[in-house]
Amino acid sequence: MLINLTDVQKEWRDKARELAVTELGPRAAGVDKSGTYPRDSMNALRDAGFYGLRIAKEHGGAGADLLTTALVVEELAKQCPSTAMCYKMHIEASELVARIPTPDQVERFIRPITRGEALFTVAGGETSGKKGDNWSPTGAFSAAGKTGTGYRLDHIRKSYVTSAGEATHYFFMCQAGEDAPKGALTAMIVEGDKIDWEKDGEWNGLGMRGNCSSPVYFSGVVPAENLLGQEHEGGKYMGTVMMPVVAVTYAAAYLGIASGAFEIGCVEGSRQYASGARRVDNPINKRRMGELSARVEAARSLLHLAARAGDEGQVSLPTPYLQAKVMASEAAIAVTEDMMTMFGGTAFAGRLPFERYFRDARAGMVMGLANDEAYPMIAGMILPRQKT
Ligand SMILES: Cc1cc2nc3c(=O)[nH]c(=O)nc-3n(C[C@H](O)[C@H](O)[C@H](O)COP(=O)(O)OP(=O)(O)OC[C@H]3O[C@@H](n4cnc5c(N)ncnc54)[C@H](O)[C@@H]3O)c2cc1C
Repeated sequence: MLINLTDVQKEWRDKARELAVTELGPRAAGVDKSGTYPRDSMNALRDAGFYGLRIAKEHGGAGADLLTTALVVEELAKQCPSTAMCYKMHIEASELVARIPTPDQVERFIRPITRGEALFTVAGGETSGKKGDNWSPTGAFSAAGKTGTGYRLDHIRKSYVTSAGEATHYFFMCQAGEDAPKGALTAMIVEGDKIDWEKDGEWNGLGMRGNCSSPVYFSGVVPAENLLGQEHEGGKYMGTVMMPVVAVTYAAAYLGIASGAFEIGCVEGSRQYASGARRVDNPINKRRMGELSARVEAARSLLHLAARAGDEGQVSLPTPYLQAKVMASEAAIAVTEDMMTMFGGTAFAGRLPFERYFRDARAGMVMGLANDEAYPMIAGMILPRQKT
């Protein structure tokens, strides 16, 4: 780690590390094997006060900055990427309401988070749905009907909802009314106990198997008091208020996969066999470990610098956060692929946990902002605009 941390940042990192090692790590293989939600691990995070990490101190939270958030999520992902992803979604989903709450929302949503009573998640993307299509350049989302007192959700299907059936609150994006301006999205909080929701099958993913990221149908009326900010402004909030934490926590989760697998590789690769040989003494493996250490450190340094610059108010466009996201997810792919080769049959047979990290790492390429989508977006931010 190349940048200096404050005492508070170190405290949260160390607290997260200890909790991850004692609570998350021992359950990680079981969570992956059974594909069940890491409820005990999430409860441990809740009980240790992690749910309110980014909530302002005046509302009872820890008021943590972006860099602290990145440190915490990396530590969790090193031990259990599935738990880290559920936690990351909670942080992401509660970010907007934490930043721009109404007084009523402070009492109904923010304080329950800090008391550990509310677990948030994101009900965003709609693929293969009735109307939604991630591929669409206009970002087509279903429309909620406006009722006068709120918004009617008419069997709207969200394709991947982490913590489906476990979360109490959903950060929900949709169009407000059929006649909403083209591409304009509205953000709101959907309360799980005040609306009908139905999971459309169980999550049985290749990786991140403890996520419970099932499709969910939502039906019922969301009261107008649950609107976040202004109607039709959800896309703007996503780009300005939410993007830093969305991208930073994705990057931190994938970085944790990379550094977690790499650290296991260092320990296991240094074990001496009866012959006296160690895997890391093989010249190819030695080169591998050197190269991978550089990739992990490069991703970590960019992430930390981006987060700290954001904390200092120096970031006007989300370019560095997105660059950190793609670098971290690719570091996770590189490390886990090489660990699979370096540890050969032992890794392939699942006698060491590399194949779990390998599967979890694949999610980094396609989720959040898929890298194929993030790269052109980064280019759009750095290239001069065409003259009209
Ligand atoms: C484990 C997991 C957990 C998730 N959790 C949540 C959650 O909690 N909440 C939530 O809302 N969503 C969640 N998602 C959804 C995720 O954020 C993505 O929306 C989803 O993975 C996209 O999958 P898709 O099949 O819809 O991909 P598609 O949109 O069909 O994309 C498939 C591929 O097409 C390419 N592509 C797509 N769009 C573009 C573009 N505009 N430009 C260039 N290339 C493009 C990319 O290569 C991409 O990888 C989760 C996904 C996973 C895997």
